[in-house]
Amino acid sequence: MPDPIDIQLDLEALAGLELFLSGALAPDPHFRLEGHPALEPGARVLLRDPNNVRLAEFTVERVDGGAALGPVALIEPPRHADFAAFRPAPAAVRERLVAMGAVRVAALAASGFLTVDDEAPLRDADAAVLHIVEGGPVDHFPRVRAAQIVAERYLDPARVILNVLPPLRTAWRDRVLRNYGATCIAEPAETGAYRPEVAALAASFLPPPSERGFCVWFTGLPSSGKSTIADRLALELREAGRRVTMLDGDVVRMHLSKGLGFSREDRDTNIRRIGWVASEIVRHHGIVITAAVSPYAASRDDARRMVGDAGFVLVYVSTPAEICEQRDVKGFYARARAGQLTGFTGVDDPYEPPPNADLVIETAGTTPESAAAAVWRLLRNRGYVS
Ligand code: ADP
Repeated sequence: MPDPIDIQLDLEALAGLELFLSGALAPDPHFRLEGHPALEPGARVLLRDPNNVRLAEFTVERVDGGAALGPVALIEPPRHADFAAFRPAPAAVRERLVAMGAVRVAALAASGFLTVDDEAPLRDADAAVLHIVEGGPVDHFPRVRAAQIVAERYLDPARVILNVLPPLRTAWRDRVLRNYGATCIAEPAETGAYRPEVAALAASFLPPPSERGFCVWFTGLPSSGKSTIADRLALELREAGRRVTMLDGDVVRMHLSKGLGFSREDRDTNIRRIGWVASEIVRHHGIVITAAVSPYAASRDDARRMVGDAGFVLVYVSTPAEICEQRDVKGFYARARAGQLTGFTGVDDPYEPPPNADLVIETAGTTPESAAAAVWRLLRNRGYVS
C-alpha cells in the first residue's frame, strides 16, 4: 500500500475534526475535509495538526462538492492545555443533564463577553449549557473567566454547564448545540450591560471601538479602483494619527506570496495568506487595509472568518467591467485580450461579486476622495474612527 498523503490541518479543519471526533457533528457518519481538491476516493491521508502532530488517519470514501468524505481512525486526540475541564464530550454533557433531570435545556454559543440580556434565556430553562467559542475578536481566556463568574454569581451554578468549543462555523452551530443536549438555542444578545466583574475584564481585553483593530477588505475587478481608494483611505487614517498596514495585491505578490501564480489554488492561497496576516494585525488592535482582486467568494469568506466578523469590513468596488477594461491601468486587459496572458480576472477568469459586502462603491461618476469618504462614514458608524 502506498504511504498516506500528509495533510496539515488549518485551525478551521482542525475544529471540524475535533467536533467530528467528539460526536458533536452527529449524525454525520463521515469526516468532511474541504479545501483539498486533489484528494480522490481511495486516498489515505495522515491528518496532522498545525504543529504537525499526527492526529488521525483519514480514508477518502467519496468526494462531494469540493469536500472529501470518509472515516477517520484516531491516532491522538487534539491537545488542549487550556480549560481541559471545560471541554467535555457531548455524551458526557448529555449524561450530566439527564442526572440533573433537566428536560428544557437552553444553550448559548458566545463569541463575546456575556451581557445581562444573555442570562435570561439560560435562567428560564431547567438547565443551560454555556458554550464559549474560541476565536473572534477577544481571546477566549478572559471570556471563559467571565462566564465562570456569571455562572457562579448570577445563575444557578448547579444548573449551568460550561463548555469551550473550537471555532464554530455558523452552519454547524445548531447541530453541535443540540448534540450537547440543547432543546432550545438562545441567540447572543446584541446589546445589554455587562455585570461589573465582566465589565472590568471587557475593559482590559476589549478596548473601545476607537482603539480597536479592523480590516477594510477591498475587492473588485482589476482597475476597478481598489488601490486608489485604499491609498486615499490609508492616507486619511494616517493623517488622523492612526497606524495602518497596507496589503496591496501586487505588493503582496512580491514578497508574502512570491512564486504563486493565478490558478484557482494559488489565488486561494494568496487570499488566505493575506487573511491570516490581516487577522494577526487586527488581533493586536491594528488597522489593515487590503486591496487584492480576491475574486472568489469562498476565500473572501475565509478571510472574514479568520479576521472575525466584527472587525471585518468588505468593500466591493463595483466598477463595470467595460470601464475597468478602458482604464486598464497596468495594460493587463490588453495583454489578456491579445492572448498573451491567460486566467486574467474579468477576461477569462471569473469574478464572483460579493452578496455580503458591507459597502458597495460605484466608481464611475465619482472621485477616489468621495469613495474613501463613504468608507470613512461606515467606519465612523461602527465607532472605529471619529
Ligand atoms: P485596482 O487596484 O482595482 O486594480 P487601481 O486603483 O490601480 O485599480 O486603478 C483604478 C483607476 O481608476 C485609477 O487610474 C484611478 O485614477 C481611476 N479612477 C477613476 N475614478 C475613480 C474612483 N472614483 N475611485 C477609484 N479610482 C478611480
